[in-house]
Parts: sequence; structure tokens; C-alpha cells
Amino acid sequence: MEQELARAGSCLVSFKNDSAIVITGNLLGVLKARGQSGTPFGIRVQLAEAEAFEQDQRSSLAMQKLLLVKQRSQGKHLWNIHARACLVMALLYEKVGRKESSREQLELAKADIDRYKLDAQYPYFAIRRSSWERIYGDKKTALFFAREALRTAPTYHLLLEEAISHMLLNRLLPASALNERMQHCIAGVGLYRQLGDYVGCSSMFYAISQIYYQRKNFRQALAYSDSTIVAANQAIADGNEKEKTIGYTYRLRGKIYEQLGLLDSALVNVEKGYSVELALLEKGVSDKVIEIDARYQNKYKQKLIEEQELALRLKNNQLGFSVIIGLLILALAVGLYAGFRRQRKARQKLVAQNILIQNQATQLENLDAAKSRFFANVSHELRTPLTLIVGPVNTLLKGNQFSEKQTLLLKTVSRSARQLELTVKDILDLRKLEVGKMPLNKEPTALESFFRLHLDQFQSLAQWKQIHYSSDVQLAPELMADLDREKCRQVLYNLLSNAFKFTPAIGKIEVTVKRHGNRLSFQVADTGPGIHPDDLPHVFDRFFQASQNGRSSAGGTGIGLAICYEYTQLMNGDIRVESKPGEGSVFYVSWPITLTEKENTPLTPLHIPEVVELYDIAMPVGQPMSGNASAEATSNPRPTILVVEDNAGLREYICLILSDNYQVITAENGAVALQKTASAHTPFDLILSDLMMPVMDGYQLLETLKSGDATRHTPVIMLTARAEPADRLHALRIGVDDYLTKPFDEDELLVRIANLLKNQSVRRQEVLVDNKEGDARPLLSETDQEWLEAFERYVRVNLASDLLTVPALSETFAMSESTLLRQLKRLTGLSPVQYLQEIRLNHARSLLENGTDVSINMLASQVGYKDVRSFSRSFKNRFGKSPGDFLYTTPNLQSKNTK
Ligand code: ADP
Repeated sequence: MEQELARAGSCLVSFKNDSAIVITGNLLGVLKARGQSGTPFGIRVQLAEAEAFEQDQRSSLAMQKLLLVKQRSQGKHLWNIHARACLVMALLYEKVGRKESSREQLELAKADIDRYKLDAQYPYFAIRRSSWERIYGDKKTALFFAREALRTAPTYHLLLEEAISHMLLNRLLPASALNERMQHCIAGVGLYRQLGDYVGCSSMFYAISQIYYQRKNFRQALAYSDSTIVAANQAIADGNEKEKTIGYTYRLRGKIYEQLGLLDSALVNVEKGYSVELALLEKGVSDKVIEIDARYQNKYKQKLIEEQELALRLKNNQLGFSVIIGLLILALAVGLYAGFRRQRKARQKLVAQNILIQNQATQLENLDAAKSRFFANVSHELRTPLTLIVGPVNTLLKGNQFSEKQTLLLKTVSRSARQLELTVKDILDLRKLEVGKMPLNKEPTALESFFRLHLDQFQSLAQWKQIHYSSDVQLAPELMADLDREKCRQVLYNLLSNAFKFTPAIGKIEVTVKRHGNRLSFQVADTGPGIHPDDLPHVFDRFFQASQNGRSSAGGTGIGLAICYEYTQLMNGDIRVESKPGEGSVFYVSWPITLTEKENTPLTPLHIPEVVELYDIAMPVGQPMSGNASAEATSNPRPTILVVEDNAGLREYICLILSDNYQVITAENGAVALQKTASAHTPFDLILSDLMMPVMDGYQLLETLKSGDATRHTPVIMLTARAEPADRLHALRIGVDDYLTKPFDEDELLVRIANLLKNQSVRRQEVLVDNKEGDARPLLSETDQEWLEAFERYVRVNLASDLLTVPALSETFAMSESTLLRQLKRLTGLSPVQYLQEIRLNHARSLLENGTDVSINMLASQVGYKDVRSFSRSFKNRFGKSPGDFLYTTPNLQSKNTK
């Protein structure tokens, strides 16, 4: 039951009010049945329920419940609950404009907090007080309390309160304090995101957009207004009312476009803004009409009852009888008229809804067409530069004048460029199919040898991946038919490459090819993870990739199956899939064939390396740099790094870079990495892992590593793509772990690894000093981790303040300076000064990566550096790139992520 209450609490924090109401309602039902609703636990549940009603704008219900909670908690001396109930009541009164009552409740709460030392309630009180002062009191006091809330909330892990204080500070600070307001907004967005609270996110995005507008940075203002609308729509989808925000965001966009001189767009946006607001107004009016209608109906019913009573009284009266008849006829007429009106209204509403849906469908179709046109155009533009990469590199390779390492690097370039060429070709093919410009090139083909030849291409891949692969071609050798060989091959290869991509080692892949009369059919069955039923209807859609929870992310483009679908359609055939999560998938394809006599062009086989290149299936293209960890570990003192990456080319490239300084072991996905970690004689010194991989992705790997005693302390570097949300990597710890955004360069990778390994060796020594008996205590226990997280949070919040000195920190964390030093060294390998620097630099980096528009000077001072040169130097030492490099190469991630 405690757990359930905690669940309700987290629903409240992320504004999932309905869920909170249901959970608390259920809990109270159980408690009442057991006669336990008056216990301290019962009262806590009632408080949670009241808070849920308050958040759901059901004020009078919330007020009733709160009064009860207050009374009961006072009777039982549960002051924590009492104080909290007073604070929620203060909020309720504040909302309805009862200034004095609100203030009274605030004072009651404050008295509880002071008398019973309820420090954990203080941040919430500070927020309420700040809000009260903002509306009814004076701004200075409001500002003071908002700062108080921000100072104290992190100590009690009150993320929501921390987020609200950032929001309040943005509103309370002078409009001209742009930088400070911006900092609060960014911090606020981060916290609201963490909480999954899109109401908060959209408000913060709106504020950021406004600040950029004030700074006359219209491009960024526009990007953030996009984010505002996305977040507001999400909030609406979650059941919150955020239409108003959308309305005024469109109006702000209108102003931005006007400044940019794009008057057409300005007009469209302003109009849109007004139409959203008008719709809201209309909704308000129609709600009122419904309300009046309902009242009228009630009155009418009441009148009818009164009249019936009157009629009863006149029962024995002749006159009465005719009055009754008259009244009934009147009632019937009124009833019929009301019914007719209601029906007409409903019909009108339905028509309006249909028009809206039709408009939306057309809009979506247009958007879809625009999207694929855009992809096709971009892809087209990529073809020339790609040819200019592939050609010259191949010429260089033919010259045979390079060292082994250089040749390998050039081969990597050539292979990657060809892969890109193929993706481009796929996109263009898809476009051609879409506009009906793809012809069929049928030629007489000996079907049996055609299928055998292509299916055999996958044998060695199967061997290498340890997959039981079998193919059964049930066709007569002499059977000849007209076939578009290239398209048929592509369908086959796409299905097989997916099967190989998703099926783990020891799994099975079976292909069967048959003919039924004039129909050729084949099926590809695998024992991979299967496809979630919700995803199943969409797998043949263009650019679709499964996203169901619990599925690992495998990367890819979502084009392969769409092409299979389009090709089979073109050949008048069918394609379908059956799949059960956990059991595997079977793809069935069939199409009609016309039998012919003679084959005119012989078949040309493809080579296996080509299969690998074409479909980007993980396969060793020779792993010269990776060795056997257990065999070499004792003789080789070089640190051992495990590289987890599914793309064979990238894996090889990383090996090549690292092999001069490190012993490298490789794994093609998270699951293989875990096997290798478990079987290694000595633990790896560092793990470098990609995020998107089939079978087990980087997030799952990270989580498993961090929860295992033997692997918890191993430093990890994650490779992320720009568009991947960095906040999902919250398990990374400062000084211990890191992430690297693709594309990265050699220096960057080497510097990051060297830094973490250095910290790691200092940590090891500290543990030895601390722990002379040498028991095998892990470097980072759960308690340590909690402490480190609290410390990190405190430092982050106070980054720009002067509270971050070693004496002040040791006082705040109630330990001597030398204990603090040792604690940090043991946990992160860093001294307090280095640790602070690490957080400052990381914060600067995340601002840069998020496309925050600031000069390096401002950035340095924002993260607490007085001297910009020393900031740049430390930055370069830490990340292998100077802040300027980030500034010029990082596109605006924010707008990319949220669009
Ligand atoms: P891509 O593999 O490039 O993402 P596809 O169009 O080939 O694109 O596949 C679409 C999605 O269907 C994949 O992202 C994957 O989630 C799912 N899928 C396809 N084949 C399989 C399979 N054999 N087993 C499990 N999932 C599959």
C-alpha cells in the first residue's frame, strides 16, 4: 500500500491527476473496508487525494477533503500532514482571490514548520509564499522566497518544487535580467522534462522563446516557439488545458515573423493564434450554453412536476381534467421542440467534426508528400558528393602505397560512403515508386538457381553470428519464369538482413521457397524478439521503426520493409507478417509468375562482403586490433577497453584508433558485451558503447552494468547521436562516466578515454588506502551513489553562486574538508576543485550541445569561470575540442528534438 501511495505521489508530481485520483480512491476503498481510514497512513492517502482534486481544478471537492484532513491530522498530532494541508488550502484560496484566508493558511503552516522543525515542508511553503507575495504582496519578498525554495528544494529531492522555483524566478526577476532568466528557464525545462510534466515544459519553452525575442535572436525564438507548441500539445494529450498557451504562442510567432520581414507567415500565425483563442472562447460560450440549457431543462422539469402536483389536486375536478390535457399537450410540444433542437445541434456538431477531420487528413497527406519530396531532393543532392568520395578513395586504394593502418582507414571511408549511396538509392527508389515511375524489368530466369545462389550468400554470415540458418528451395531445377531479378533480390535481402539483424546467437532463421501453380511464394522465419502487436500493422510503412517499450533500439532507416511492400505490390503480389513478441517473426511473400522457356542472361552472384556492405549487417571485416582479453591480460599491462558497437565499420575504425594505446575487445551488441564482461578474467578498464543496437541497446547495457556489483565501478562512455535525448543517460556520473556525440574525431575520443582512465586509477588507489585489508568492496555502493547524486545536484544548482568553496561545501555536507576530499577522490577520482571544474565544464558543454545562443565569454561566466582563456583551455583539455568548435558544428538540437 505504501508503494501505491508513492505511485500516486509520482503521478501528482508529473500532473497525471486522473491516475492519482484513481489510485488514492482505490486505496481509500480498501482502507475503509478494513476500518483503517483514520490511521496516519489513511490520512496521508486522503491528503494525496485532496491534492489530486486540487490539481484537477475540482476546488470545492478538494476544499472539503482538506478540511477533514486538517481536522484529523491535528487530532493525531500529525504536523507534517497538517502543514501540507494548510499549504494546499493556501493555494486554493489564492486561486479564488481570497487573499486573507490564503495568508492565514500560510501562517498556520509556517507555525507548524517552525515549531516542529518540518524542514522538508519549507521549500513548498517558500513557493506558496513567493506566489502569494507575487500576486498580493511585494515583489522583493516574492523573490526572496523563490530563491529560498530553490536553495532548499534540492536537499529534499523535491524536483517539482525546484522546477517551480525556476519558473517563479523567471517571472519575478526584472524583465531585463535576460541572462539570469534564461538560466532559470533552461534549468526549469530540464527538471520538467525529467518529471514528464509538459505543462511546465511548455511554459518554460514559451518563456525562453520570449527571452530570445527580447534579445532579437528571432531564429532561436522561432525554434523555441515550435518546442512550446509541441510540449503544449503533449500536455493537452495528457488531459491538461493548454490551448491558451498555443494561442498566444502563435501570436508571438506572428510577431517574430514580422521582425524577420516574412509578412505572409506573420499573418498566418497571428490568424492561427486568434482562431485558437476564438475556438477557446466559443468552447467557453458553448459550455455556458450547455450549462444554461441544463438549468433550463431542470427548471422545465420542476415546472412539470409542479404542474403534475397541481393536476393531482384538481383530480376530481372536470375543469382540472381539461387543464391536465392542455398542460400535457403543452409539455409534449415543448419536449418535442427541445428534442428537435438538441438533435439539430448534434447533427451540426457532427458535420463540423467531419469537416475538421477531412481537413486534417488532407493536411497530413500534403505534409507526408512534402516530407518525401524533401527527402528525395536532399538525397539527390547527396549523390554527387558521394561519388566524389567513393571514386577518389578507390583510386587511392588501388595505388597500394599506404601502410596497413592507412589502408584500413581508407577502406572504412569507401565502405561507409557506399552504404550511404545505397540508402540514398533506397530513398530515391521509394520516391519513384510513389509517383509511379518505377518500371518492372522482367527477364526469363531459372528460379531454383536464382534463389539458391542468393540464399547461399548468407551462409558465412550465419556461421559468424552463430545462427542456425537453413534454406529449403522446393522448386524444380528446370523451372523458368519471368522475373524482375533485382527487385526480387532486394525483397529477399531486405527480409533476410532484418532477420539477421534481430536474431541473437543460437537463434534460427529458415527460408522456404515454393511454387503453387502460377504463384511463387517464399517465407522468411526467425526466432528473434518478434514485433509488438501495436507495431505490427505499421512495419511496412515508410520510415517506420518499432518503438514499443522494452524493445531495444536497433537503428536503421525504416525503409527496407516499405520497399519490400512496394515491390511486391508492383509485381501484383502480397506481403504479410506474423509475429509474436518473444517468439519470432515470419514474413510471407508471394506473387504471380509467367513461365517461360529459355534464360537469356546468366545469373551474376554477389560476394558476401557486398552483402555485408549493402545491408550493414555486423560482420568482421577482419579485426586486426582486437585480441583475447584473458590470454593477453597478464602479459600486457595496457588498459583493456571493451568496444560495443553494431556497425562493423565503425567498430573497426574505433579499434584502429585505440589499438596504439589500449588492448581492445569488441562486441556487436549489449548482450554480447555482457557475456564478455562476465567471462573476462580481469575486469575491463573501460567500456565504450553505442546506444542504438539490436538485441540489447546501450541504455539496457548501461543499466545492467550499473546494477551489477562487479561492473558498477567500470567507467562507461556512451556514443550518442545528436538527436538522441541526453537526459536518458542520467545514470552517468561526473568524473566516472561520459558520453560522446557522433560524429566524433580521434583526438576527442582519445582525450575522453584518457581522462576517465586517469580518474579510475586515482579512485583505485584511494580505495586501497582507505581499505588496507583489501576486502573486495565495490567502489561505488548504493549509498555512495546517493550521496554523490545529492552532492552533484547541490553543486549544479549553485554553479553561479559563491557557495562552491571547499570550506562551504564541507560545512553544508557536514564533514571535514579532508573527509570531503577523500570521499570525492574515492568516488570519482577527482579532488573537490577538479570535481567542481568537471561540473562547470560539463554544464558548459551541455549548453553548447543544446544550441544555447551565448558567446564564449558569457558561457564562461555562466558556469562560474572568471577568465575566458582559462575556461577555453580547460575545456579543450577535458573534451579534446575547444568550445568554439562546438559552437560552429552543433546544430540547434532543441528544435531538432522537439519538432
Ligand atoms: P529498419 O530495419 O531500417 O529500421 P525496416 O523497414 O527494415 O527498417 O523495418 C522496420 C521495423 O520493423 C524495424 O525497425 C524493426 O523494428 C521491425 N522489424 C523488421 N523485421 C524484423 C524482424 N525480423 N524481427 C523483429 N523486428 C523486425
